[in-house]
Parts: sequence; structure tokens; C-alpha cells
Amino acid sequence: MNQPAFTQEREDIIQTDRDTVWHHLTQHRQFDKADPMVIVKGEGMRVTDATGREYLDATSGGVWSVNVGYGRAEIADAVRDQLVTMCYYAGTAGSEPGARFAARLLEKLPGLGRVYYSNSGSEANEKAYKMVRQLAHLEGDGSKHKIIFRDRDYHGTTFGALSSTGQFERKAQYGPFLDGFVEMENCCCYRCPFGKTYGSCDIECATHLETIIQREGPETVGAVVLEPITAGGGVIPPVPEYFPIIQAICRKYDVLLHIDEVVCGLGRTGEWFGYQHYDVQPDMVTMAKGVASGYAAISCTVTSDAVFERFKNAPEGRLAYFRDISTFGGCTAGPAAGLVNIDIIEREGLLENVRLRGEQLMDGLLELKDKHAVVGDVRGVGLFAGLELVADRETKAPAPEQTAMAVAKDCADQGVLIGRTNRSFREFNNTLCLSPALIASRGDIDDILEALDGALLRSA
Ligand code: PMP
Repeated sequence: MNQPAFTQEREDIIQTDRDTVWHHLTQHRQFDKADPMVIVKGEGMRVTDATGREYLDATSGGVWSVNVGYGRAEIADAVRDQLVTMCYYAGTAGSEPGARFAARLLEKLPGLGRVYYSNSGSEANEKAYKMVRQLAHLEGDGSKHKIIFRDRDYHGTTFGALSSTGQFERKAQYGPFLDGFVEMENCCCYRCPFGKTYGSCDIECATHLETIIQREGPETVGAVVLEPITAGGGVIPPVPEYFPIIQAICRKYDVLLHIDEVVCGLGRTGEWFGYQHYDVQPDMVTMAKGVASGYAAISCTVTSDAVFERFKNAPEGRLAYFRDISTFGGCTAGPAAGLVNIDIIEREGLLENVRLRGEQLMDGLLELKDKHAVVGDVRGVGLFAGLELVADRETKAPAPEQTAMAVAKDCADQGVLIGRTNRSFREFNNTLCLSPALIASRGDIDDILEALDGALLRSA
């Protein structure tokens, strides 16, 4: 493929962007001194910006989305064919790709039985929360509506999703939040909120859920929502015992277990879904980013048959069905793209590739940890890894934010894009994030590690 030239037209785009677009997560004062980055092309693992500079993208589109890589004409063709055949119909009707994709997706989700469509991760989570709240009304007096969420987890930008988010930086200045959301502790062994050490602890990060349910009153708790691996809160995989304990407590108190797979879903960790690394059967699973690898906006709230049947079998009444709609849940581009996305992951053996390349990545990162004192901890599963930076390994004092920014900038200067995750509520914390597309080759991982090595040497 030809590289786009740095033309006047492209320079104009940067100026037009600077003059007109309000960028996500951005303090625009920075553009007084530096140009905004405008990405104009993507091919495989690589993106090109408007100046013609090419980067190896170790972020999968900034926020872990483009799982099968850029420039997949096959997805675009399927979407085009679908759009000219039947682009959109919303409300109560279904669609052909909607039905086909739901069936295909459910093959990857044993124990679950229904797919509800919307367009973003936040929206998918809101749907799940509404299901929980409505069930509390359909089957009782509405009191079993509370949702327990976890410190450091992120569930989205809308008010329900944000109310259930455990990250200071996302929540500060947006209060007041909604009632009915209750926070539990995070499960990060490196900074155990219970001051314990794995191996000699009783997995208090999971068992304390029971105390919270008892404190709130089991008759008031409807669901627990968890990321399978905390993503934006610092890439935190739980220990193997974690989810079975959570599951047992949920079952004991008749509380639904909702797993937010918006980041991990569709192969990121080497299984179809992140929770499938653990011995657990969720009642609800939400997903978005990897569902169509960013080629179309689609998200899904997937439930067990049991949850679906509770609505279907609700006592007769005008309000006795899930009274929710999503205007663009009627777009067919999403499921059409999603079908090809699954084809590609299967045909190219990408789950296996993620496992192999994930091992290579983790081995390389552990070597970097041996070499660079600023790396306090390395965590991750599959092609999803985080490096937590510290000022002092003994005290675990967090490295200043500028360190992580400098490392990321140095990597970008070398032509490799890496990510950073947020601060948590309790401590200033600073984690670099690597999440290349599932198609990453051995050489790509080597290049990412080499750039990071140099950046850590120079910037930390
Ligand atoms: N859940 C998780 C785990 C996420 O990381 C995100 C987005 N980063 C969301 C939900 C929200 O998704 P969206 O931005 O599509 O609303």
C-alpha cells in the first residue's frame, strides 16, 4: 500500500481539526504548542498520521478496539453489501445480520442465551443495569436494585455507568451520581487494599463482597458488575480463586453476576472472553470495542436464558417487558461487521496467536522490569499488558505522571504508540498499557519491547 504523502490537503486537515474538533480526554491548551494528532490511514498493525508519519500501534486504536487490525476490506465489503440490502430498521423488528450474529456470538458464550443490541460499552452496561432494576420491580417492591461495583474498574461515560465506576479521574467534578451503586475494594495484589500478600491471604478482595452484601441487606442487592481484568484502572487480572468466590457469594444471595467485557471481549486475552480464563459463569456479559473491531459501532448486552425468561414470564401487565430501546441498535452495519470479525479471528487462528505473542510480550516485559528500576510491577493476560511505574520499588511510591507521559512520548517519537491508564481513587498510579492487535507478529512485539526499553532508559 502507498503511504499517504504529506500534502497541503493533509496539513489543512490538521488546521481544520485544531479549529473545529473537541478531542476526547484532552486539555486543548496543549494544541497552542503542538499539533493535534490526526490519523489518516491504517493498515494491519500500523497507522499513519496527517504529516505522513507511520506508527506501529500497540494500542489497537487508542483504546483496545481494533482487534483484527486496520484495513480489512473484507469487513468493509460485508458492511457495504449489507447497507445497500437493508441498512437500518429499529424499534421492535429484528434484522438478518442481527439474528445471524447473535447466534454466532452465543456459540462463544456457553450458558448465555440472548443478545440485546446497542452502540457503546456505556450503553450496553446501562441496559444491564436497567434489567436489574426492572427485575427488582417486576418481582418485588423494587428494593433489590443495588449494583455493587469495584474500585479501579471503569464502566463508561453515561451517568449510570459512571456511577458504577471506581476511578477518581473519571468521576471528579461530575457529581452528584446516581443512588444504588455501592463500591467494593479492588483486587490488585501489588497494592492490596487489605495489606495482604497473595499466598498467605484469604482472598479478602473477593470474600469481602459478602460483608458488603450483608451490610447493605441482601434483599437490596441485585447485581455485581466487574471487569474480568480491570483495564483502564491499571490492567489488573484477578488471582484464579477470585471469580469462583465472587460467584459463590452471588449465588448465595441471589445476586446476578455481570461481567463487563467491553475491553477483553472478542479475543484480547487469548480466550474469546476474559472471564473464560477463570472458573465462573456470569449471568450477564456486556461487550463493545472488539465486537466489530471498531469497523462499526455496536455493543451487546448478553444475558442467560434465565434472566430473559424472568422478563418473558413476568406477571401480565402493561409494564411487564423490557421497555428499553436504542435508536441505532437497529443499524445492521454492526452485526454484519461482527460476523466477519469472528470469521477472521477463527480463520487466522488469532486466539492462538494472542497466547503465543502474549507470552513473548510478558517475558519481554519481565526482562524490562529486571533492567529498569522504575518498573514496579508487570501485569497482564494475552495481548493486554500493563507496566506500573514507581519512584521507589521498596516503598512503591508511584512515579510522577510526567514519567509515564515521557515514556509514552519517547515511544511515539520512535514510531510506536503505547497507552497509559488512569489514576485510581486512592493513590496516584501510573501504568503504561500495551494492547497491540491480535494479529501482532513476533517482530512487532520485538519492536514494541525495543522501543519501550529505549524509552525507559531515557525517560525514567
Ligand atoms: N467498560 C469498559 C471496561 C471500558 O473500558 C469502557 C471504555 N473504555 C466502557 C465500558 C465504555 O465504553 P464506551 O466508551 O464504548 O461507552
